[in-house]
Amino acid sequence: MLGAMQDFELRVPRVVEHAEREHGSREIVSRWADGSETRTNWAEVARDARKLAQALERMGLKRGDRVATLAMNHSRHLVTWYGTIGLGGIVHTINPRLFDDQLVYIANHAEDRVLIYDKLFQPIVDRLKPHWTSIEHYIVYDGEGEDSFEAVIGREDGDYAWVEGDEREPCMLCYTSGTTGNPKGVLYTHRSSLLHAFGIIQPDVFELSGKAVSLPIVPMFHAVGWGMPFASPMVGLKLVFSASYDGKVLCELMNREKVTHTAGVPTVWLAMFQHIDATGEAPQHLKLVTIGGSAAPRSMIERIMKMGARVNHAWGMTETSPMGTAGAPSWNWDELSFDQKVDRTVYQGRSPFGVEMRTVDDEGRVLPRDGQSSGRLQVRGPWVIKQYFKDEAGPCLTDDGFFDTGDVAALHPDGVMQITDRAKDVIKSGGEWISSVDLENAAVGCAGVAEAAAIGIAHPKWDERPLLVVVRKPDSDVTPDQIRAHLATQVAKWWLPDEIVFVDSLPHTATGKLLKTALREQFKDFRFA
Ligand code: ADP
Repeated sequence: MLGAMQDFELRVPRVVEHAEREHGSREIVSRWADGSETRTNWAEVARDARKLAQALERMGLKRGDRVATLAMNHSRHLVTWYGTIGLGGIVHTINPRLFDDQLVYIANHAEDRVLIYDKLFQPIVDRLKPHWTSIEHYIVYDGEGEDSFEAVIGREDGDYAWVEGDEREPCMLCYTSGTTGNPKGVLYTHRSSLLHAFGIIQPDVFELSGKAVSLPIVPMFHAVGWGMPFASPMVGLKLVFSASYDGKVLCELMNREKVTHTAGVPTVWLAMFQHIDATGEAPQHLKLVTIGGSAAPRSMIERIMKMGARVNHAWGMTETSPMGTAGAPSWNWDELSFDQKVDRTVYQGRSPFGVEMRTVDDEGRVLPRDGQSSGRLQVRGPWVIKQYFKDEAGPCLTDDGFFDTGDVAALHPDGVMQITDRAKDVIKSGGEWISSVDLENAAVGCAGVAEAAAIGIAHPKWDERPLLVVVRKPDSDVTPDQIRAHLATQVAKWWLPDEIVFVDSLPHTATGKLLKTALREQFKDFRFA
């Protein structure tokens, strides 16, 4: 027997229609790359999305076709998501920071038919147009002529009904940045996107509500903009977008628009701290700062907490839509001291309903949640990947349906997850594991250290031993001995790097993370003295 409730397919356009109806006048502010600003609202975004759907249909686009974007965060980018998905299409957000051969690969692999881009990225388009084999139409968000976004939607009347269908149809395509081999596509469904949006608005996750004013610093092309473009209309919050990550620009916008919530990778906070140090001007209204994408260093967490905001240290990946865990306060949070709160926030938080986690050893045996045993982190749930786009190898899951994240983690008895490293980055010394992430985070807490990376170097006796590669802060003359003395107060003695070397800069991935593969290549002939 089946129950007797409505089959209300969880289709993405319903959420923008909801915002149009219930929160129509709530604002969306965009600060563009040239410094100009535009203001719109949920009702206008929904209307423009219908116009875009009409225009795309006129170009011959059909259900299942891909529309690519090469753009920073702004309201027209948001319109593109809803317009494309509204006609049954799939939005493919391209990360402009990828290398040329990756940009060529993913657009061709995705078989994108339309590309909508910011003028800022015209050089990329000019360079790669001859190599993109499937793109038929180019539209410029901030262009002036016939092919400008405003001209394209300006020709339509917006009298359009969203295409209906199964909630398991695809709506978004996002490629991982591919630290090894070609990037891989993750194809989200309407259902997974809306369940994920329900998941992240919760108090224990991103704590979103109609009262919130959110400035997602994370780009929409990075892991679905952490789901913010789908969650925001669900609660009807005010969105503030900025194409610039400059500390001064962000701080001014946050204060003027009274931003309460923001989300981004740790490095954006370094620019903000520099601005605060130089001018004394700090964000005034922030309540919740979500940090994810890489481990948030303790010193950063402390500083933001001292500014009066809560830090929500979250973990996730493109394959998990991306939210996997978030730094939900424990039931006794109010009784904890400042230091205890920081201790807890250094970990990656707990999973909400919808994400099931476990850790396993090399033989696949499930490990205890004792806060000590660390092993491969595996997850499952309705917004976790099943199979990469067009991957003939089939599902990327264990026999019992879990996705192996490639991260190494420990689960604590209270459900808190602690990432210890990426499986391929742990330093294996004498049969024990040294966490490169812990070493790096401890090192950046040392005065004079701007950035640090730890890698394993082959060692005749121990298998591998840590080498710490450090970028000094400008004008700093911090020495290896000073760094080692600082580290000795933070990590076990046998973790201390055998050598510390200084470089001018470290290699990063397109999403701003340390690129360990390149660093290992750079130091492949290094031998300890
Ligand atoms: P990529 O950088 O490979 O394009 P993602 O942005 O999907 O892809 O990165 C996901 C990975 O980022 C995770 O598997 C994990 O290694 C790392 N990561 C994300 N959040 C955190 C965090 N809070 N702490 C430590 N590592 C994190």
